[in-house]
Amino acid sequence: MGAVALDPRRPIRGLTDMRDELHLPPRETLDPADWFAVERLAGRVVADAVRHLKGIRDRPVWQEMPPGVADGFTAPPPRHPTPLADVVREVQETVMPYPMGNVHPRFWAWFMGAGSLTGALADFLAAVLGSNLGGGNHAAVHVDRQVVAWLRDMVGMPATASGTLVEGGSAANLIGLTVARNAMAGIDVREHGVGAIARPLRFYGSDQVHSCHRKAVEALGLGNLALRRVPSDAGFRLDPDALRAAIAEDRARGLRPACVIANAGAVNTGAIDDLETLADIAAAEGLWLHVDGCIGALLAIAPRNAHRVAGLARADSLALDPHKWLHAPFGVGCALIRDGRLLRQSYATTPEYLQPAPRGVASGPWLHESGPETTRPFRALKVWMMLREHGVERFGRLIDQNIEQARYLAHRIEAHPRLALAAAQEINIVCFRYDPGGLDEPARKALNVEIMLRLQEKGTAVISDTTLRGAHSLRVAICNHRTRITDLDLFVSEVVRIGDAVWTETSTRCTDGE
Ligand SMILES: *Cc1c(COP(=O)(O)O)cnc(C)c1O
Repeated sequence: MGAVALDPRRPIRGLTDMRDELHLPPRETLDPADWFAVERLAGRVVADAVRHLKGIRDRPVWQEMPPGVADGFTAPPPRHPTPLADVVREVQETVMPYPMGNVHPRFWAWFMGAGSLTGALADFLAAVLGSNLGGGNHAAVHVDRQVVAWLRDMVGMPATASGTLVEGGSAANLIGLTVARNAMAGIDVREHGVGAIARPLRFYGSDQVHSCHRKAVEALGLGNLALRRVPSDAGFRLDPDALRAAIAEDRARGLRPACVIANAGAVNTGAIDDLETLADIAAAEGLWLHVDGCIGALLAIAPRNAHRVAGLARADSLALDPHKWLHAPFGVGCALIRDGRLLRQSYATTPEYLQPAPRGVASGPWLHESGPETTRPFRALKVWMMLREHGVERFGRLIDQNIEQARYLAHRIEAHPRLALAAAQEINIVCFRYDPGGLDEPARKALNVEIMLRLQEKGTAVISDTTLRGAHSLRVAICNHRTRITDLDLFVSEVVRIGDAVWTETSTRCTDGE
């Protein structure tokens, strides 16, 4: 039939009959029937999005979705079309007013970026272009390669390093640990599996390593016990002496020490392990050094704080997270491997349906050979456009600014009689508690959790909490280019106001009950 249809100029007898016979449905497509109308609608969507960001400061950081709105998301799959304008309006009414809040200047929970309009435009353009970054010969591949090279240069890794962009820091760490396992196993793990490894591998990190490392060693078939948590010192840094002792003990037990996981910015407190010393130990013991730099690798571009991550570039593998301190919209992490060949050796496969070609679209690099994904989105564009627009130096200054703000907050906390730091403030993370004195740990925790929840429910600020050596702590992580000092002043006065109110409520209730 294809051959018959090829020449549209020649009337073809029997074609109508053929169509009837094949029951070809009327032609359908996802493209709009009226391109002009969609152009105007798209213009309005962009204008509303710009206004959304412009007015962010005047809205609550977070608000509970009314049940009526939330219930709308339990409807069954829509079988029939809805005009796009109505779909957009629905999103604007039911989704846009109820964000997580991290785009707001007073969101300091967990550790995540605050997004950017340029990044959002980039995600839109990337989707319009629609290219698949599994590889090939097209522009997006060059952008992807360039972003990896830029990030490599920004953290000071050598030109021999190679890397890949993945969906986030957890995936980047998994890649680093995968390459570490494969390089240290002593056998071809890809071919024979972990069961064939003669002596069980041991990985080491402090008791402050991020939970993604547990998921990683589990996924790698090594099991959670293969990740030995070495005690951290008083500053929550991996204790080098304890590490040496653990390695010696494991060797004596017939295990194979394989990899040290160093924190360049621990998730609880921001503590930075002594990277130079850990690199020395890894070198002396013949271990792989993986640095989890999801928080702190980018300190390398911050003029006033780069010294804190001296030794970073000695890592054999490094994970970093552009959707944190570079504020790229979510979905971009980066794994860098010092010896770039090892990355490819861990992932390359050349199936018969993905062969390189001498010319044409298949003649470019196959990026899927450097990571676990096959189809890959054009996540590089947001990082590329944001770095082009602002330049590396502005991002470095913004990192310094967040650390200055955290220092300011720490001073305000220390100066207040009912507030107390729960850990030393080193970078942009401040752990503290409201402590009127005389409360046991459960009561103090309940009081502080209540402060955290009321701040959220009023829409004033969103922070999170954690537990440090058994003691509950509120936690403020200022990874936010919109935060101002006045936001922190408001925060401190609201914490104290709410804390005093809750404390009065609880002590009155206790007295009443007596
Ligand atoms: C955020 C974080 C991760 C995980 O990164 P995701 O992008 O959330 O997957 C890993 N390690 C540390 C230290 C982190 O702060």
